[in-house]
Amino acid sequence: MLNIPDPKSKRIVIIGAGFAGLTLSKKLAKSDNQIVLIDRNNFHQFQPLFYQVAMAGLEPSSIVYPLRKAFQNADNVLIRVAELVAVNPETKRIKTNKGEIYYDTLILAMGAITNFYGNKEIEKHALTLKSVSQSLFLRNQIFDDLEVALSEQQYEARQKFIDVVIVGGGPTGVELAGALAEMKKYILPKEYKEIDHREVDIHLIQAGDVLLKGMSPNASAAALQYLEGLGVDVMLNKRVTSYDGCTIVMDDGSTLETTKMIWAAGVTCPKIEGLPSECYGYGQRIKVNDQLAAEGYQDIYVVGDQALLISDDYPYGHPQVAQVAIQQAKRLANNIKKNASESFRYNDLGSMATIGRNKAVVDLPRLKFKGFIAWVLWLFVHIRSLVGFKNKLFVMINWMWNYITYDQSLRLIIKPHKKDTTKKE
Ligand SMILES: Cc1cc2nc3c(=O)[nH]c(=O)nc-3n(C[C@H](O)[C@H](O)[C@H](O)COP(=O)(O)OP(=O)(O)OC[C@H]3O[C@@H](n4cnc5c(N)ncnc54)[C@H](O)[C@@H]3O)c2cc1C
Repeated sequence: MLNIPDPKSKRIVIIGAGFAGLTLSKKLAKSDNQIVLIDRNNFHQFQPLFYQVAMAGLEPSSIVYPLRKAFQNADNVLIRVAELVAVNPETKRIKTNKGEIYYDTLILAMGAITNFYGNKEIEKHALTLKSVSQSLFLRNQIFDDLEVALSEQQYEARQKFIDVVIVGGGPTGVELAGALAEMKKYILPKEYKEIDHREVDIHLIQAGDVLLKGMSPNASAAALQYLEGLGVDVMLNKRVTSYDGCTIVMDDGSTLETTKMIWAAGVTCPKIEGLPSECYGYGQRIKVNDQLAAEGYQDIYVVGDQALLISDDYPYGHPQVAQVAIQQAKRLANNIKKNASESFRYNDLGSMATIGRNKAVVDLPRLKFKGFIAWVLWLFVHIRSLVGFKNKLFVMINWMWNYITYDQSLRLIIKPHKKDTTKKE
């Protein structure tokens, strides 16, 4: 039972408290509508900094924000931690793992999921970076494996525990590779002295011929140059065909051995039981009109990564980035509040990626640049975008500390478990 009281006015159910769902709920807070915000987590996650949690650069608590705190002062927003299971557009009800509820308006803001392109073996063995839990898992795996490697005498046997392979040369892959290379350079020689850090290989495999495909050619070239300068082995025009948890096989028959293959090679969107297959378009996103209503429905809207709005400027839909999600949420909230039907127009503010200390690339609509200024702008934009003053402050202090000391003391292997009665705590 979701146990939601009957509303005095309309009930708007929002699924997902990511960039889109959170922005929308905030804009609709204190309105006359009852807002039911459903997410599988009780917190909002700031995905662009997952890689820093995985690399032990930031505490997870710095990049998440509790939903109940966000809506402490909004009596019309009811939060339920539940998972959407199905939608029934005929009866206007949704089913979650904790019960059913009716809606007057349903807004889907469930984001994207990792795309394994149907390869079940890769899905089973690869590590991914789509949640803060996965980031923590990766952090534990890296430091667990380094401990294993320290006890391993044989060079070959040791290598697979210390080498890391990242698949996908988009922003996530590039930022992760840069952060790993810096860890290899600044941390391993100090803390894992018995391992010759020069033996640690970081491979970045990209199926296409450039990194950061969505950015300008200059940004792509600079990212490649920066990563190679940091000692990352960038492998372009190669496709991973299989991975059994130890051996990676590529389409040209070449292989790599590692216990950590991080899959950042693409996203798709979740299929929702109850919505007909005609709803879905490119990337399994849900087709919407320019007012963000799902095609064929007047009471179901879709925003963020999950929405596919085709236009002349965006024949494959808008880029799946935070700004699109935020701007769509604002447009929809304004339309709902004013009972208007204005079209969504994306205002592209540009894109950026960082490759390590003092190194970043920035593509603004009228200006493209790289290097230290780009890196400072990247820091500023990310601090500004974080939710919550405490998070902004803590991340800023963390980064300043890291910049001065070249070190974060977060390399901990913490695994939650039930009390083990056979061992002393
Ligand atoms: C590692 C990484 C790095 C990124 N870096 C950048 C960057 O630097 N710049 C940038 O602009 N974009 C970046 N992105 C993309 C950006 O994070 C997304 O475009 C943005 O989060 C989309 O917002 P959204 O609200 O559509 O979805 P999300 O922010 O993904 O939110 C979806 C929400 O729905 C919830 N949910 C999903 N399914 C269910 C269900 N069945 N039931 C209940 N709840 C559900 C999830 O828990 C989540 O809270 C990055 C993404 C990743 C993964």
